Amino acid sequence: MSEGTRVLVLNAGSSSVKYQLIDMLDGTRLASGLVERIGESGGRLVHTPRSGLKRESLQVFPGHDAALKAVAEELAADGVGLDSPELAAIGHRVVHGGKRFTVPTLITDEVLTEIRRLIPVAPLHNPANITGIEVARDLRPDLPQVAVFDTAFHASMPEYAARYAIDRAVADEHRVRRYGFHGTSHQYVSRATAALLGKDPAEVNVIVLHLGNGASASAVSGGVCVDTSMGLTPLEGLVMGTRSGDVDAGVVFHLHRVGGMSIDEIDDLLNRRSGLLGLCGDNDMREIMRRAEEGDADARLAFDTYIHRLRKYIGGYYAVLGRVDAIAFTAGVGENAAPVRAAATAGLAELGIAVDAELNSIRSGEARVISPEYARVTVAVVPTDEELEIAQQTFALVHSAV
Ligand code: ADP
Repeated sequence: MSEGTRVLVLNAGSSSVKYQLIDMLDGTRLASGLVERIGESGGRLVHTPRSGLKRESLQVFPGHDAALKAVAEELAADGVGLDSPELAAIGHRVVHGGKRFTVPTLITDEVLTEIRRLIPVAPLHNPANITGIEVARDLRPDLPQVAVFDTAFHASMPEYAARYAIDRAVADEHRVRRYGFHGTSHQYVSRATAALLGKDPAEVNVIVLHLGNGASASAVSGGVCVDTSMGLTPLEGLVMGTRSGDVDAGVVFHLHRVGGMSIDEIDDLLNRRSGLLGLCGDNDMREIMRRAEEGDADARLAFDTYIHRLRKYIGGYYAVLGRVDAIAFTAGVGENAAPVRAAATAGLAELGIAVDAELNSIRSGEARVISPEYARVTVAVVPTDEELEIAQQTFALVHSAV
């Protein structure tokens, strides 16, 4: 067993790889970076060493193996290479763990085969995650490699929340159920929210609103997820940057039968050309707020639709939880967009929910409370840190295996 204290976290997407090297003794980021446009022209690697002085290299990365080798070289140039004895393990973000993987899992050939079997329910994500694992195993076959699943935290949802009300035999045959995503973030943020309240996670009920380009809400009761807004795929739920979130499934039949669109075209429409982008032509909340402020009606409608959906989930999860101790806003929009937080919680004093305008306007990278002292429900901004969570889960698993 390695004596190392460092964990390399890899998040391999279809054309990108994000990475962070974290020292688990104190959570120090020894390096982080991003490789973009893998398999395309105009590839780019941006590497940030501990000093913070970014290095950028523009080159073609024909595949994930070339990208990860370039990352390994950058790390070696900083004296923190993959061959260093301090490296204890590599933690991989894997999007879909299906029903089988509900905890972080040491990767073996058998586990990899199982992750491959889940490709039909995560065709966009799992193949890239698998490639990342394979390349990392080639680079360091002796090192423990751990898969941390985006779906895992939601595996605790009761059956009635995980089921769609469709024919059970059909659903079971095709593994159609609500899995949920962003689980690592919901888990990290719900725990960090409890810490902010000075309480044990087992004591608190939290509604977590992860509002990034992708967005999801979850209801967490005593540290356990009891409902979440994404489903079989990350398309369900909130209005997102380019995804529609909830739509009547009849929309799909209508667009196919009456609109003459193919299933692939509808998939593209709902996943990549809908949400905020579809409503107003922009998917960046900063730009939408700026346009709405200037009186642009499309941007205003996009903002209002986004907020309306968010409020429906806050109300829904309030009822699911029965008692809410905290509402936590996180990710790009949740951490930065004060007007979104204000609008999402406005007029809910009857539910014990209020936001203090001054506290809400403070910009900070720290977890912080933005509700007034008298409010029954604590509203908080809690920056997410999925990489740290993956590193912690990876390190804990490797050490429990000693
Ligand atoms: P991803 O889902 O890609 O990880 P992030 O959590 O990084 O997304 O969030 C990205 C989104 O955050 C951007 O699309 C943008 O809309 C939003 N965002 C970032 N900074 C701000 C800001 N200062 N104000 C409003 N929105 C912001």
